[in-house]
Amino acid sequence: MGKQYRVRCKGLDHKARGEVIFNNKKFAVPYLLPKELGIMELVYKKEETSAKLCEVIEPSKDRVTPDCPYFDRCGGCQLSHMTKEAQAAWKQGMVQDLLKQFGTCEPMITMEDSKHYRHKIYATFSYALSQNKDTLQKGKKHTSGSRKIISGIYEEESHQVVAAEHCLIQHERAEAILKTIRQVMQETKTMPYEEDKERGCLRHAYIRIGRSTGQIMVVLVTGTKEFPMRAKFVEALTKKHPNITTIIWNVNTKKTSMVLGEKDTVLYGDGFIEDSLCGLTFRISSKSFFQVNPVQTERLYEKAMELAKLSGTERVFDAYCGTGTIGLIAAKQAKEVVGVELNKDAVRDAELNKKRNQLQNASFYAGDAGEFLEKEAVEKQKFDIIFMDPPRSGSSEKFLSSVAKIAPKKVVYISCNPETLQRDLVYLTKQGYKVEEMVPVDMFPETVHVEVVVSLCRGVLK
Ligand code: SAH
Repeated sequence: MGKQYRVRCKGLDHKARGEVIFNNKKFAVPYLLPKELGIMELVYKKEETSAKLCEVIEPSKDRVTPDCPYFDRCGGCQLSHMTKEAQAAWKQGMVQDLLKQFGTCEPMITMEDSKHYRHKIYATFSYALSQNKDTLQKGKKHTSGSRKIISGIYEEESHQVVAAEHCLIQHERAEAILKTIRQVMQETKTMPYEEDKERGCLRHAYIRIGRSTGQIMVVLVTGTKEFPMRAKFVEALTKKHPNITTIIWNVNTKKTSMVLGEKDTVLYGDGFIEDSLCGLTFRISSKSFFQVNPVQTERLYEKAMELAKLSGTERVFDAYCGTGTIGLIAAKQAKEVVGVELNKDAVRDAELNKKRNQLQNASFYAGDAGEFLEKEAVEKQKFDIIFMDPPRSGSSEKFLSSVAKIAPKKVVYISCNPETLQRDLVYLTKQGYKVEEMVPVDMFPETVHVEVVVSLCRGVLK
């Protein structure tokens, strides 16, 4: 055990950790709130010293007891110890602080009922050491087939599985499906895959639920190339959960934190599900990106369209287009849409989504957004509006410099990481763009994550 010290929290950093000063040094104490007096423990590791909260002596009025029994160990929800109002105020303030050089953000679009919003659920299988489901349980030896099997998430910063059977942000239907999978594992002696020992079978389950269609995709990920009992899983799952539309077997033999491997085999149904957003229907495959919170996604896309102010005459570019969601919604109000995306499965989904929604004025290409746009710039292609929705790492210089060359009158940037957004906005504003509006959207309540949509225009504000 490290040494413990009494500290007073000054404020929260960009990851919602309490900032304290001790011995003239700054420390970030997770879960300590502003003005609180608490006891922190310093944990010394090779490269860095980190702080842990041991006790809160004077709790803040913003503090609540999290409803979740796994809160202390899971680490997935970093804000559940705060009231809803305090969570929203922190997100607004954090985004504003990062983007202050570009002006004032609009009030965040919050979510009323913030429980069970995740429609995409991952679970990892492991062994329990005891029947006590609230104990942190780590598989030991592969000796007895009768040991209890658990499913859950990795404990924060570790590779131990927390048996989280009732997650407060995941869709409730996934729980019952996971329970059935665990039962079938037990009945058929299908062992959890142990990555370090490279033995066992079932590694993860990935469940995707269509909000408006009710369709469900279940992906069973094995760590081995064999899955002898697969028919039993299909039989039990489809019998107990008739809403399951498709079941896929995915093989992931690699030592990796990625859930899905390369190889997919469809065991039941068509290998995809559908869901609707903003009046269009989208096909979602196992490997295509599709937002996890459909309620807030609609609000996000509506806001993006509102900021784009399409009139029907524009040529639109949809960068990092995934399954074509933003581009196809824009296609209803634009002359032509061109989309680009790295993931080939998502591009195939985007093309099929175009047909499914009887839209003709869109085309989607596989490739790196930067390289693609660079070529478009060389060929002197014109775009009036560019939507860009990059991953957490943000965009690339190649992409942003090509935006500047093509010089669309408007750029609508949808970001899931305000830090990389800030960096990219610095670049775009140096290239003659001006930030018009910045709107945070809370897509991930209870967590530190937040989406921001920003509109930029060229030249002088009108
Ligand atoms: N606009 C989509 C997807 C956004 S997520 C939606 O709203 O659903 C970001 C997407 O960028 C992912 O689909 C990812 O596969 C893709 N991506 C990541 N790096 C890329 C790159 N260098 N070029 C093009 N697409 C990329």
